[in-house]
Amino acid sequence: MCRCGDTATVAPDNHLWRRFMNDSEHLVFDKRLNRYIFHGNILGNMLQFNDDLSTYWREHLTERHNISAEQVLVQVEDERYSLIGEISVEFLRKIQCKVSHGPTNVVPLGCSHTSVSLPDGIDPNDPRDKGKRREVRLKINENCFFVHGMSGRPGIA
Ligand SMILES: [Zn+2]
Repeated sequence: MCRCGDTATVAPDNHLWRRFMNDSEHLVFDKRLNRYIFHGNILGNMLQFNDDLSTYWREHLTERHNISAEQVLVQVEDERYSLIGEISVEFLRKIQCKVSHGPTNVVPLGCSHTSVSLPDGIDPNDPRDKGKRREVRLKINENCFFVHGMSGRPGIA
């Protein structure tokens, strides 16, 4: 695992974490997947590319800092967020998203900062690419697993 502050290539078998609000209005039970996912109408907020999607590199946090998903929320101290979603790097690359580690010098969370970029040819801001961005978000939504903050029904940690 890379030293804090160094930039590294994120291995395909690694994972990214992102904080979300655990709000029952944001989540819907998907019968096919047999679990809660974000409501399609809220994806623009939950998975907003601005121009990238900011995430934390799980393996850097767990292996280098021994920090769990729950401890990420404790460190950030923003009570609006109580849910951690996990996305596989291999999956993101399979759908042509780019995953790049972009550490800041803030240890221990900033050093794990990782960006997910839209596939080539999809502009994060061009209104003409809105439909393509939605397709990418829908795929990520179905492949985002809540690893902390949801023990059953949404809104209940
Ligand atoms: Zn670090």
